[in-house]
Amino acid sequence: MASLFLGPLSRLANCSLTAKLTVVNVLLVLCLGSVVAVSWHMLPAEATAGEDVMLLNRAQRANQQVDMLHDALHSDVLQALLVNQAPGITPQQVQRSVRDNVVSMREELQTLHRLPLTGDLRHQVVEARLATLSYGSLAERLVELALTDRPAAVAEMEVFHSAFEHAKASLARQTDELGRASEAAHGVTREAGRLARERLAVAAVITVFVGWCCVALVARSIRRSLTRLRDVAVAIADGQLDRRTPVPGRDEVGTLAEAINQMADHLQQMIDRTRRDAEQGVFGTELVEALEMADSEPQAHAVVARAMGEVSADHPMELLLADSSNANLERAAEHPRAGSPGCGVDAAFSCVAVRRGHAVQFADSDALNACPRLRDRPQGAVSASCVPVTFMGRALGVLHASGPLGRPLTPLQFQRLSTLGAQAGARIGTVRAFERTQLQASTDSLTGLSNRRSLEARMRQLMLAERGFTLVMCDLDHFKRLNDTHGHPAGDDALRLFAEVVRSCSREGDLLARWGGEEFAFVLLDTSAEHALAWCERVRQRLAQTLKQHSRPAFTASFGLTQSGEAPTLELLVQRADAALYRAKALGRDRAVPADAASAGEAAAPRADSEQRASVDMRMMALQD
Ligand code: GH3
Ligand code: MG
Ligand code: MG
Repeated sequence: MASLFLGPLSRLANCSLTAKLTVVNVLLVLCLGSVVAVSWHMLPAEATAGEDVMLLNRAQRANQQVDMLHDALHSDVLQALLVNQAPGITPQQVQRSVRDNVVSMREELQTLHRLPLTGDLRHQVVEARLATLSYGSLAERLVELALTDRPAAVAEMEVFHSAFEHAKASLARQTDELGRASEAAHGVTREAGRLARERLAVAAVITVFVGWCCVALVARSIRRSLTRLRDVAVAIADGQLDRRTPVPGRDEVGTLAEAINQMADHLQQMIDRTRRDAEQGVFGTELVEALEMADSEPQAHAVVARAMGEVSADHPMELLLADSSNANLERAAEHPRAGSPGCGVDAAFSCVAVRRGHAVQFADSDALNACPRLRDRPQGAVSASCVPVTFMGRALGVLHASGPLGRPLTPLQFQRLSTLGAQAGARIGTVRAFERTQLQASTDSLTGLSNRRSLEARMRQLMLAERGFTLVMCDLDHFKRLNDTHGHPAGDDALRLFAEVVRSCSREGDLLARWGGEEFAFVLLDTSAEHALAWCERVRQRLAQTLKQHSRPAFTASFGLTQSGEAPTLELLVQRADAALYRAKALGRDRAVPADAASAGEAAAPRADSEQRASVDMRMMALQD
């Protein structure tokens, strides 16, 4: 029975909760309606049966009255016969009694006659009524006769008695008939009541059963839906973020399912974003660490090139940097495998990304608002991404990537390219600033040559590496006189000019330094004393020529030379060169003297510069004298 209901109802399992509740409501209303209909149907039958019982009760009451009056009339007739024979019985009394009884009896008979009795009962009532009315009339006549002619009345008594019996018998049959009919009517009433109770009970049972089935069905389907939701929610909580639950409809369960799906979507997006950020963070950290290890700009360029491969495997990329004049952009690095996109921008300010001060992306180079530098590329229309490379707000260049049309870098790749641009700018700017500071710290500002400190450091390295070189110490002759005669600016100009002359005579790799004041020191790598002497000679001659050419005040220079292997320490090496220099001074200036020649006539003991020079000067002057 249950399966009969549950079978079709189970098809509701896939319906929405609202539909299920609606069906349950409809079924419950139908059941309640059937109960009401059953009750409604049973009520008239029961009422009709009740009316029959009431009718028969009234008929029985009237019949009883008639029966009593029938007996009373008999007494009236007998009393009429006893008038004047028995004391206390008056004719008027009897006449009134018989009249009243006859009238009452007729009224009761009339009542009985008007009752809507049917069938045999109706025949019986008609028959009893006729017999009783005739008996009543006879009783009335006999009373009158007994009061006027008693013997005649006695003579009539037999007829009267016969009428009495006849009416009595008829009334008795009527009583029986009414009794049976009443019994039957009671039976019908009881049957109708029993039937109504039975049907109500059946309807109530069906209603309860259907209600139970519906509630069970809905509860089961809700439980199933909620179990499904719970399983998906637990799976999502366990990290299976791709799990989704079907949305059965727009009811509460459907809304909940949709909310769980949306929650999973948002979680997925959030985790993807976090993962991307983490990857981006790792990329950024690695990039910063790699750039930190780049001590020079070329090393930084190499790191940028390698990082391009990390940004994207197949998008051509290039780093275009402005030179020191900040005018021209030149390619400093390109993608190690995909190569360079070949952007034609030549000046930093011509780049739209540099001009706007932020990264830009173009999905289609043919678009109206695309960068004009992207047009007419050999590979046709492209997509592109451009990131300005800046340091402390100053544009250094641009990081440029191109790709197939409509497929620019993904947001993650674009973010990485932006990170690369920012970090590359920071590192290259720092390296440039550091190199500039280094250069300033190691360079003499007047002549542009190295200063004494940097040359000493370089010489120590060379000696440590046992690299062969010749050290040339140089001092301009009578420079004080030049200053005094032509002024200090002319002296400065002479120092600059001398530096230029030395530079023009040198090879790449030679170390040229201003030692201090009007003194210079030169390190000629892998050069013998003989070649160094020749070099000094060239310098002297070119100096003379240049001064003549430019009509500058004439001055000369003296040189002292020594070779790196001739002293164990830098200090002793410098002393040897100095000694040679002062011998050159002593010999008349404007010449170069090797240390060997100087030490041949001099004590080798080291002395302070000023003492040494003064004593050399004194002795040389004595020699000349
Ligand atoms: P000597 O031939 O013996 O070397 O004579 P000198 O005059 O060159 O030597 P001295 O040591 O007496 O004088 C060196 C002069 O060089 C003194 C100083 O005014 C000048 N001088 C040193 N440094 C500079 C500089 O940077 N600019 C200018 N204009 N003069 C300098
Ligand atoms: Mg000097
Ligand atoms: Mg001098």
